[in-house]
Amino acid sequence: MARYSKRGKLTVAALLSAVFILADISSVRAGSVTDGTSGIVAAYFEKAKTNEALLIAFLHKMPKGADLHNHPSGAVEIETLIDTAIEKDLLFDLKERAFVSDTANPFYTSMDLRFDFWKKDEVMDALSMRNMEKEKENGHTHFFRAFERFGPAMPSVEKIIEETLRRAASQRISHMELMLSVVEFPEDGTVDYGALKKRLLHLDELRERTLANLDERDKGWNVDVSYILTLNRGEDIPVEMRKAFDTSAYKKYFSQRVKNVMDLSVNLHDYGIKGITLLAPEDSWISRTCFDLQMEAIDENWRSFSEEDRDKLKLTLHSGELTIEFSPYDAMRNRISKTISEGHASRIGHGVDAIWEDDVYGLLGNMREKGIAVEICLSSGEGILGISGGARHPFRFYWDARVPVVICTDDEGISRSNLTLEYAKAATWFDLRYEELKWLAFNSVEYSFLPGESLFVDGDFNRRKTSLSPAKSPKALKQMELWEAFLKFESRMERNIKLFD
Ligand SMILES: [Zn+2]
Repeated sequence: MARYSKRGKLTVAALLSAVFILADISSVRAGSVTDGTSGIVAAYFEKAKTNEALLIAFLHKMPKGADLHNHPSGAVEIETLIDTAIEKDLLFDLKERAFVSDTANPFYTSMDLRFDFWKKDEVMDALSMRNMEKEKENGHTHFFRAFERFGPAMPSVEKIIEETLRRAASQRISHMELMLSVVEFPEDGTVDYGALKKRLLHLDELRERTLANLDERDKGWNVDVSYILTLNRGEDIPVEMRKAFDTSAYKKYFSQRVKNVMDLSVNLHDYGIKGITLLAPEDSWISRTCFDLQMEAIDENWRSFSEEDRDKLKLTLHSGELTIEFSPYDAMRNRISKTISEGHASRIGHGVDAIWEDDVYGLLGNMREKGIAVEICLSSGEGILGISGGARHPFRFYWDARVPVVICTDDEGISRSNLTLEYAKAATWFDLRYEELKWLAFNSVEYSFLPGESLFVDGDFNRRKTSLSPAKSPKALKQMELWEAFLKFESRMERNIKLFD
């Protein structure tokens, strides 16, 4: 049984003065935050885990650290898309099941969407994963087609960010790394960095304004935001290139685009751009047949940057979002290891197919040693790949090998999920204790792209550094805020759970 250190009254000021009580770690199990954890709350959590209502009520306001894998365009609430379609007076094409401005097919009007709830329901089914059992197309197709279907109804970036921030604050998320190309490399190659910096400053002002205007329930909660630039693996290549597809021409084209986003990331690092990711289903023809070329292009470009610039060039790459149903066996034998060795990934998105790696145990050891985290997106994997339940998901495969794991949402709008529900799923699917969920929350900040030194020794959240001033490190400051938020949360929960005595 885990022991808990006596919980003292820790304040930011106390921590800043570096007066730390080092935990008695002799009985601490890796992956379990016991230092400062309330035994009463942890014991109650075991009861809460047996009932969905108790569990969600518990987790809703539990501090969650960061959401490191979030695509805002897939995270918008479907209702917001419908409202935007109504504002734009779009039609919903019933054959294509998509928003359009005009069509020869039968359609619903914005008036239908306002006043006929069953028509609105039909639209919601087409754009989300909520009624998949009734769909004819599989989850993979339904998910990826949703983006095309609701594309014309996408609200402005500003509106998306506001909605994301409000939801994050309310669910006690304190940092987000949003996979969104808020700045783009211009087609003509002439980059106006002044204009791009202005754009990023504008978005940060919007963030501050949104947080300042949160209602009383969430006021005072801070959410930091970083952006991860996205680059399509190539399904969006020009039509001419598609017609006479040639791998060397593709590589040249893709490599130039990689260089462009890398340049943006390095030059705008201090303005909030913290990394790069690749988009497109990993089982698409171009992802499968050109994977080696893509990794080569990343590797060559990455090597052309100085060591100092490489620090600003973080790659978090979707890798291994595959199963045998969606990929030939051979393509899964080195997908993740190559994404790390040649793609220079600091984090891996999904990592589901790791079990098929030729040197799978070597891969686990390498990820653990280098601190390469895997971003686990449970609802997304369930909806797209059909990996449902703890017995099927490779979470424990990573977790038990002490590879860093973080819990993320991916596309919470389409999935009809959120980070609270993802934690609930993790707790029940893998029978995790409260102290382990805390570890996951701390992992999300430890393996974020926030700059600065960690507050903790060797990624062990029971051992805080005694000599570090958190004020000098944004990461340590965020970790300290999380520490304090947990103290407050547990203190409130100790009172709340008396209701169930
Ligand atoms: Zn993703």
